[in-house]
Amino acid sequence: MEKTDGVTTVLSPDICVIGAGSAGLSVAAGAAAFGVPVVLIERGRMGGDCLNYGCVPSKALIAAARHAHAVRKAAEFGVIAGESTIDFEKVHVHVRSVVDAIAPNDSVERFTAMGVRVIEAEARFIDRDTVTAGRLTIRARRFVIATGSSTIIPPIPGLADIDYLTNETLFDLTRLPEHLMIIGAGPIGMEMAQAYKRLGARVTVVDEARALAKEDPEMTRIALDRLRDEGIAIFENSRVLSVEKSVAGVRLQCETEMGPMTIDGSALLLATGRKGNISGLDLEAAGIAVTSTGIAVDGSLRTNNRRVYAIGDAAGGLQFTHAANYHASLVLREILFRLPARENRNIVPRATFTDPEIAAVGLGEDEARKRHGQVAVLRWPYAENDRAQAERATGGLIKVIASKRGKVLGVSIVGAGAAEMINLWSIVIANGQALRHLRNAVAPYPTMTEIGKRAVIAYYTPLTRKPFVRAIIRLLRRFG
Ligand SMILES: Cc1cc2nc3c(=O)[nH]c(=O)nc-3n(C[C@H](O)[C@H](O)[C@H](O)COP(=O)(O)OP(=O)(O)OC[C@H]3O[C@@H](n4cnc5c(N)ncnc54)[C@H](O)[C@@H]3O)c2cc1C
Repeated sequence: MEKTDGVTTVLSPDICVIGAGSAGLSVAAGAAAFGVPVVLIERGRMGGDCLNYGCVPSKALIAAARHAHAVRKAAEFGVIAGESTIDFEKVHVHVRSVVDAIAPNDSVERFTAMGVRVIEAEARFIDRDTVTAGRLTIRARRFVIATGSSTIIPPIPGLADIDYLTNETLFDLTRLPEHLMIIGAGPIGMEMAQAYKRLGARVTVVDEARALAKEDPEMTRIALDRLRDEGIAIFENSRVLSVEKSVAGVRLQCETEMGPMTIDGSALLLATGRKGNISGLDLEAAGIAVTSTGIAVDGSLRTNNRRVYAIGDAAGGLQFTHAANYHASLVLREILFRLPARENRNIVPRATFTDPEIAAVGLGEDEARKRHGQVAVLRWPYAENDRAQAERATGGLIKVIASKRGKVLGVSIVGAGAAEMINLWSIVIANGQALRHLRNAVAPYPTMTEIGKRAVIAYYTPLTRKPFVRAIIRLLRRFG
């Protein structure tokens, strides 16, 4: 596997993975588990975005914010906690300690012990089947590009002259910004908006489109009402025209739905969408085509260079850690077992960790109508659930879309625990199951999961009024 000609060392593993984030680590771990020689190249921190600059620190921050909020809300439960104070430096210590606690799982030591050859350097292609990293040359049977994504920096005049935050710097803050302005009302922007608001900052969000635009408006309305109630200023369909330094820190000149507006804040976070990391890889040398969002791949995540796959955020499609892990399982199937594997985006759930959470899997209502014509739309509100009442978490809704024959096509949930509740529906959608499979299952009482069960039962309610069904019951009553 390893040859040295005095100057460079040439490695020839079966698989060379570029990027040790969620996607790359999963491929490397899976290959090593089967005893397949694998090289993993990482130029930055092991664990990639999810561990260091994404899911983990953001969810740790959200957890701190949830505690702050719970203290404020405690009186509603008869618990008098008094006024809370936030020690943001300690919040930062909490966030870092969560990252540190998970980091050993993704470490060089752990992966080396698994049998993965980890190279800490930047990788780039020099031809169609060769990559260099530091002083090493790697000629692998297959390459997997898993280089992740970065924030898209919008071409707003003045942006280059100010210090702005992205997800790579946000979690380094040890002082709470007095007024955090966020450009971008997608999941990252809205999650961070609520967390910072709950931790005591003033927060303003500006987006040129609808907030949380990828989700069903019926669901987002419930979440956005709550975020606005908590005091977050959200300007939808509004453009930031320019950015400049100001006495407070940063000034935005915006065109909003209410007309021109100047917004002064102390810090600016860009949450303006993400683009695959491809610069520096010299993809042209390997003949690999790109798109505007990342690396061009086919349905089995192969690039136009048949030796090379691109997965996770780098492929420019679904940008979630669980999608990255799913991609890894698909390419392992193809590379190790030579079995065909096709990405099915329909089975990959989405979750936004605002409070209330928003989660969805499968088709949305409009898409389901387009593809299936007549569909059943079943709804059940959290307010009709006993557990939600007990928890005072009644602001929520489930919406289940089913075909005429009862096959579940898509589900959206907004409300407490939505990201956990969607798991059940992911299983249903992945296995092509129908409402009757859920009707047959028993949910423990009192749980929020019952909300889904009640939506399913709503599908069968018209049966109780059918003359034919009533006639059968009347007939059966005659037998004693
Ligand atoms: C603030 C935030 C919150 C998020 N929250 C969630 C969440 O709650 N749930 C969820 O599912 N997803 C979440 N995501 C998305 C999630 O983080 C990504 O989808 C996931 O990290 C993608 O994994 P990846 O392996 O494709 O890329 P990454 O994790 O980014 O890993 C790519 C790695 O490749 C390395 N690399 C790049 N170029 C080279 C090169 N030339 N040579 C060597 N190494 C290279 C990088 O240094 C990096 O370590 C969040 C993202 C952000 C920014």
